[in-house]
Amino acid sequence: MDNQSGKAFQEAGAGDTVADDVGMFRASVRRFIEQVFVPRQALWRTRGQPDASDWSGAGAAGLLLADVPEEYGGGGGTFMHACVVMEELARAGVHFGLGVQSIVAQYLLAYGTEAQKRAWLGRMARGELVAAVAMTEPDAGSDLAALRTSAVRDGADYRVRGAKTFITNGCQAGLVCLAVRTSDTAPAPRALSMLMVETDGLVGYRTGPPLEKVGMHGQDTCELFFDDARVPAANLLGPAEGRGMGQMMQQLAYERLSLAVSAVATAQAALDVTVRYAKERMLGGKSLFDLQNTRFRLAECAADVRVGRAFVDACVLRRIAGTLPDADVAVAKYWTTERQCQIVDTCLQIHGGYGYMLEYAIARMWIDSRVQRIYGGSNEVMKEIIAWSL
Ligand SMILES: Cc1cc2nc3c(=O)[nH]c(=O)nc-3n(C[C@H](O)[C@H](O)[C@H](O)COP(=O)(O)OP(=O)(O)OC[C@H]3O[C@@H](n4cnc5c(N)ncnc54)[C@H](O)[C@@H]3O)c2cc1C
Repeated sequence: MDNQSGKAFQEAGAGDTVADDVGMFRASVRRFIEQVFVPRQALWRTRGQPDASDWSGAGAAGLLLADVPEEYGGGGGTFMHACVVMEELARAGVHFGLGVQSIVAQYLLAYGTEAQKRAWLGRMARGELVAAVAMTEPDAGSDLAALRTSAVRDGADYRVRGAKTFITNGCQAGLVCLAVRTSDTAPAPRALSMLMVETDGLVGYRTGPPLEKVGMHGQDTCELFFDDARVPAANLLGPAEGRGMGQMMQQLAYERLSLAVSAVATAQAALDVTVRYAKERMLGGKSLFDLQNTRFRLAECAADVRVGRAFVDACVLRRIAGTLPDADVAVAKYWTTERQCQIVDTCLQIHGGYGYMLEYAIARMWIDSRVQRIYGGSNEVMKEIIAWSL
């Protein structure tokens, strides 16, 4: 992403104060990512995850929970501030599970009791506690209504049994926002609940080894297993059981729009490195950029990035205003992630053989981008949501 995206957020904000505030925040986030996170990338990829010190460093630098009120330890900003962090990470090609940390914070803010918020948000903002969202199961991904992990009330606890898969931050998570079935008899929308699970020392809980992914090698993804783990009933999210499906549907909008923000920023970054490469690469006495095909392909990419950014920036502002329908969130997630993959692929092609070498940024963008069309609700599911609005 270049400054234009930041400028769009700033100009569309409520006057100079907002613009200055977001601009200064962006500058400090960018500096931290470039100076601290970028040099750590090779190590994260080797280890399959960042260290605890990376989380606390991100917390100290204000990257975590930027849109959570200060009274709970957050940055006191809006969704725009969270988007700035997401954009800057994508711009630098850094994959760090703070998007998931933010999603769990949103669940707590929306449905948590005061005690739950006080127990976890501050530690999450400081990076002392890593959070995960666990919905997907081996037999329930797109069809969340089919999930089978159960939580059965037993005195002051729930007894949790089941397994989750593909969980981002799973290996490191001290807090899991877990989708569970709390009723076998209630109709599907009322059968599910969200339970906050503290994993430290939890008997009956274990994680699987890190899953070997196509890309995103510096970010951990694993399975979670619950074998009669006892979780305090006070950790239920919301006033009663059976609210889980509605809570997930509401909060998935936050995740999907965040993914769209990252998609545009990654596409912009791919375009930027490729324009630079094409102007420097000489072929038969001319630059690669001098070939009409190269210029036209890059012009197509630039047009897509600009159109996508305008739509996503408008969506961010409408979300803050509370006027963004789910169908538009689905449009944003679907369209931008499809374009991200196309643009990154085009840009890799323009790099020729060098584009296939992992030392080139475009190669990493290519392997890391693919998952964007799958997670957060696959793009086929996004099309269903869009179609419901027609
Ligand atoms: C790297 C990574 C990180 C992830 N992180 C998390 C996480 O932190 N927490 C979490 O809970 N999950 C996470 N996921 C899971 C992700 O959300 C699911 O993979 C995704 O929702 C798809 O579910 P599935 O894999 O079971 O595919 P399936 O649901 O089996 O889908 C298979 C195919 O069928 C298509 N399909 C499904 N339903 C329909 C339909 N109604 N109409 C048309 N086509 C359809 C899908 O689009 C897909 O192409 C992650 C996944 C990956 C790969």
